[in-house]
Amino acid sequence: MSRDSSLVFLPSQLAEGSNRFEIEANVEELDLDAYNFREPLHCSIVLVRTGDRIDLHLDLKTGIELECSRCGEPTDYSVGTSANVTFLPEAKGQGEDLEAEATDLEFYTGEVDLRDVVRDTFLLSLPVAALCREDCRGLCPSCGANLNRESCKCNTRLKPSPFEKLRRLVDG
Ligand SMILES: [Zn+2]
Ligand SMILES: [Zn+2]
Repeated sequence: MSRDSSLVFLPSQLAEGSNRFEIEANVEELDLDAYNFREPLHCSIVLVRTGDRIDLHLDLKTGIELECSRCGEPTDYSVGTSANVTFLPEAKGQGEDLEAEATDLEFYTGEVDLRDVVRDTFLLSLPVAALCREDCRGLCPSCGANLNRESCKCNTRLKPSPFEKLRRLVDG
């Protein structure tokens, strides 16, 4: 029942020209409910229909909580990203000369499903390694103390690893 989704459109329901939608996406439907959303996943959608060609401009906005990759503390992250995708009907698109365009190209049969575009656009906008702040000092590798909040008594530099000694032997 994909048409129950607010992110699936029938081309026949779109006016020729520009169609604008403001939608709060259902993150469970998009398989994104493992993320800790602090705000709704807001989609500003413009669908421009020219015959059976449909050009999408998508703006995504939301706020989520990520774990800092160094210290593990929860940290707020604002998502603001966009995407442009052109949808062509499958049968027609195959015969056409699809010169490289600035936009991505997708083919549709019957209905235009924006769920993958929304999902992928969201995921691509996330940082590879979130940081609570640029200069997060992370956790002490010996005692696990959060070095942003406290200093510990371990001085890991005084205890070189066996590999460190080996390297010195090799270098020397
Ligand atoms: Zn941190
Ligand atoms: Zn320590």
